[in-house]
Amino acid sequence: MFSLEKLPYDYIALEPYIDTQTMYIHHDKHLQTYVDNLNAALKDYPQYQDWSLKELICKQKNLPEQIQTPVKNNAGGVYNHNLYFEGMAPAGTTSFSGTLADAIVKTYGSYEDFLAKLKSAALGQFGSGWAWLVSDRKGHLQIISTPNQDTPLPMNLTPILLVDVWEHAYYLKYQNMRASYFDNWVNVINWDVAEKRYQESMQ
Ligand code: MN
Repeated sequence: MFSLEKLPYDYIALEPYIDTQTMYIHHDKHLQTYVDNLNAALKDYPQYQDWSLKELICKQKNLPEQIQTPVKNNAGGVYNHNLYFEGMAPAGTTSFSGTLADAIVKTYGSYEDFLAKLKSAALGQFGSGWAWLVSDRKGHLQIISTPNQDTPLPMNLTPILLVDVWEHAYYLKYQNMRASYFDNWVNVINWDVAEKRYQESMQ
């Protein structure tokens, strides 16, 4: 059965960009709910309880029909949030450099142009969802968005960076201003984790 992964930093660590209360509610309440609902969906199906999140997401069609939707939504919810929380770090503790930074500049022209494209994907996602920087096995980068708790995994793409654009990720501090949330979120991107994911995407 799945359990709540601990945050790799304190709730307060991303202030002032992501506020403490949002971090607490987002992690301890929203993510916990995805974990609980995933376990509830699998409760009567012990044969799938040792599948990884990735397997549950990618091999969804092999599951009994009545649990396909709850598993898709909640395994996606757990997987995406684990990546999101792990993909942030206190401002100034990591920097835009290395193989991934080089590939980003090569693909998008500059760090600023890259951020503008990712922001446009984040703002363009109607309703709830995620904006992503993803890589294929050759290291080619793409910016995409997904609705709800959908992931890029079934498209054979590896997540490098992701920003949660569900309102629960920003409403307490930024209300309806998704653009302000995005502009602040960029300060807490964990570039070390992103670099590691990029290296692994090509292995
Ligand atoms: Mn969320």
